Amino acid sequence: MREGLQKVASSDDTIVAISTPVGRSGIGVVRLSGSNAEAIGNQFLKRPLSHQRAVMGRWQGPDGEVVDEVVVVLFRSPQSYTGEDLLEISAHGNPLILNRIVSMVQSAGARIANPGEFTLRAVAHGKMDLIQAEAVRDFIDAQTEMQARTAFRQVSGAASKKIAPIKQELVDLVAHLEAGIDFAEDDVDVPDAGAIADRVGRVRASLEALQETYSYGKLMSTGIRIVIAGKPNVGKSSLFNRLVEADRAIVTDVPGTTRDVVSESGIVEGIPMKFLDTAGVRDTLDQIEQIGVSRTMEALTEADLALVVLDGTSAITEEDGRVRETVRGLPHVVVANKCDLGRSADLDYLQPVWVSAKTGEGLDALRCSIWGALSDKQSNGLAEFVLTSARQNEAVLRAIAGLMSGESALRSGIPQEMVLLDLYAALSALNELTGETTTEDILGRIFSTFCIGK
Ligand code: GDP
Repeated sequence: MREGLQKVASSDDTIVAISTPVGRSGIGVVRLSGSNAEAIGNQFLKRPLSHQRAVMGRWQGPDGEVVDEVVVVLFRSPQSYTGEDLLEISAHGNPLILNRIVSMVQSAGARIANPGEFTLRAVAHGKMDLIQAEAVRDFIDAQTEMQARTAFRQVSGAASKKIAPIKQELVDLVAHLEAGIDFAEDDVDVPDAGAIADRVGRVRASLEALQETYSYGKLMSTGIRIVIAGKPNVGKSSLFNRLVEADRAIVTDVPGTTRDVVSESGIVEGIPMKFLDTAGVRDTLDQIEQIGVSRTMEALTEADLALVVLDGTSAITEEDGRVRETVRGLPHVVVANKCDLGRSADLDYLQPVWVSAKTGEGLDALRCSIWGALSDKQSNGLAEFVLTSARQNEAVLRAIAGLMSGESALRSGIPQEMVLLDLYAALSALNELTGETTTEDILGRIFSTFCIGK
């Protein structure tokens, strides 16, 4: 079993949980994993089970009462999701029945699984690494096809394939340095510091390329935050409703006053996007409006992109200028709304996207422009593996920091024993990334975000 996981995944217990969603359905699945799984199955099914074969029968209590007609599949260790003996009991999807089955299994000595415990055991038994485990959760939680595709690539181990050679090179470097130090007195050549520094630099560069995928991965997992800014009455709310409604996939609805920041989520081109409609930005003495304006400013600092909405029928005003000033430094798209009423030639120099929130004209072009403005982040989407969680990003950043420090130490002639400490720090960060060594605390944090039964 992997280091750091023994305590968390004590495989003495057999665990049980309902793996299908709460509610009524045609079929519901109860899953159980651990060394007693098969014996427990035999106890209630009274029919012999065999590996990867569906066995149909009656699930029967000790008093002979039949709870349901079920189909049970046994997966023997190690050829199972968890790496342990695993039983999947498909019954009718009525919570009363499924709960009866669970309590019978409990009475036979199993205990209820913690959130994510099946997957945690899979990691503990080397069936998958930690990145794959996180991807399992992302796959289940995915709200768009694009998210699902990204997660699925990770589930199938793209990350490990990408990281393994980088780690191997680092291990070789460490071994090389260790040998140089151990045998220095025996006249073995001490490795040339410059050459080693170059190799460390190359490992660092590979990790930096990996780290750059996080900006896309983050957008993919948390969504893009788009702020809609503009003076009052240019049509921000109308545009916002259009953009969200077009995809008919409103996920949340946080109402606010017109003076507040209203936030709503929608899906645009497969990417979850969060729109923040803002109170008009203007100089005001009104205290409540000032609060609105400061919330707008706050929203702007967290945004990935701003849509600056102008009234397309008239020339730009001083107020519009102030709005543009506030989004400086953010990627932004200038939108000239109300084009159904006219297109002011005075705006041409801004090359706005002409739209009409009223008629829907120009909205496809606007979506394309949104993509265009985010293109640097988008291009990484083609990478086979992207970092998707803050945890992964943090581990890679730590590895990069260790390598940078090792590299500069090598170049400035610091003893190689010291350099080794940096390289070991980098290696341990990479091990944490994949879960080969992980603290209980980190595991606890990751798996608590899983649903029960996964
Ligand atoms: P906000 O204050 O910027 O959020 O603006 P609203 O979305 O509330 O719109 C202000 C007014 O402009 C409303 O009466 C809308 O019906 C109208 N409006 C918004 N977009 C358009 C448009 O594209 N064409 C026309 N003709 N009217 C629009």
